[in-house]
Amino acid sequence: MERLKSDLESLGKIGKDPKGGVSRPALSEPDIEARLYVIEKMKEAKLKVYVDQGGNIIGLREGKVKEPFITTGSHIDTVLNGGMFDGALGVLGGLEAIRELNEDRVQTKLPIALVVFTDEEGNAFMPFAGSKYFAGLIDKSTLHAVEGKYEKISFGNALERFLKRSNAGVIERFSSTILSHLELHVEQGPILEVERKQIGVVTGIVGVHRIWMNFNGKQAHAGTTPMNMRSDPMISASATVTKVREIVLGRGKDLVGTVGYFQVSPNVVNVIAGSVRIGIDIRSLSRNDMLEVGKEVIDYARNVSEKEGVRLNYETYIENPAMCDETIVKTIEESVIQLGYQYMKMPSRAVHDSQVMSEITKIGMIFVPSKGGISHAPDEWTDFEDAYKGVEVLKLTLLKLAGS
Ligand SMILES: [Zn+2]
Repeated sequence: MERLKSDLESLGKIGKDPKGGVSRPALSEPDIEARLYVIEKMKEAKLKVYVDQGGNIIGLREGKVKEPFITTGSHIDTVLNGGMFDGALGVLGGLEAIRELNEDRVQTKLPIALVVFTDEEGNAFMPFAGSKYFAGLIDKSTLHAVEGKYEKISFGNALERFLKRSNAGVIERFSSTILSHLELHVEQGPILEVERKQIGVVTGIVGVHRIWMNFNGKQAHAGTTPMNMRSDPMISASATVTKVREIVLGRGKDLVGTVGYFQVSPNVVNVIAGSVRIGIDIRSLSRNDMLEVGKEVIDYARNVSEKEGVRLNYETYIENPAMCDETIVKTIEESVIQLGYQYMKMPSRAVHDSQVMSEITKIGMIFVPSKGGISHAPDEWTDFEDAYKGVEVLKLTLLKLAGS
């Protein structure tokens, strides 16, 4: 545990922000420093290290056969003023598991690859830039042309800047087959702590159904317009906001629904609003449940708008849930039981690189508790003992999946 603690602390110092927390947007100077640190550690652990054209760092541990691979890993880029565990634990925890396999002199049947994915957070270029490239969902020229949001530099040039300083081999793309992908991550929510469980065995990563609604009424004077002669979009929009919660609560299950975006025009106290735009975010492991809730919300919004004489139009967008592989879920459970830890099965309500990896392989995720459920903030914390339990589960599961 001491070695994991010291690695997490060392990495957490790179990009330390004077305003608090860690700021390491992908391929920025601090992220490059963090990358060089991880490459060094991978080499010390006798991994063969490569960087692909998506900037992903790949450390290979040989098996008795050439492929398929078991991959594990996460990301080391952070949001601005983020925490030192989000992503970092999956990378350094994977590294620790591999170092222990080395010390146990275990040669697995299948080779293992430890992957550091680029720009998971999407603060620098685009969300999941690295894992999308890894999974073949985006081609090199498109990715390299993406312009930076954090710095005025293209992805290609930022990658070049890193490659000049790294002593890892450069490859176009990781082309071996992958049997399964495992990711250890902090929960980023309060459930494990509240339920007093040490490990969360993730059943799937929730999908997101987003509905953007525009309510268009008649902008008018707040004093001179009689109450019965108004078409006030504020009324239909705010009724819809509270209805989202009611519908979601009524269904129970694993659904969550939020209206976190509400924009009023012209947003002036003595004017009846002309238009209101709201953004609704519905998440669940079931695509069907999300779509049904979405439909119910839209029907309701249409009704209240009609009554008010307000015109409604909307756009929808859906990102499918990614289910974890049942056999991997069972293997993780067996490992936790063997180690004697308390666990629960749970969905992941945050998105992760594994969601993208599910496009090309079977996935599994292991969660450890986040203090107070806080993440993407300087106060993000997981006790090192808890973090290490996650590593033990990861190691045992890797062993079972890679075989002997
Ligand atoms: Zn993360």
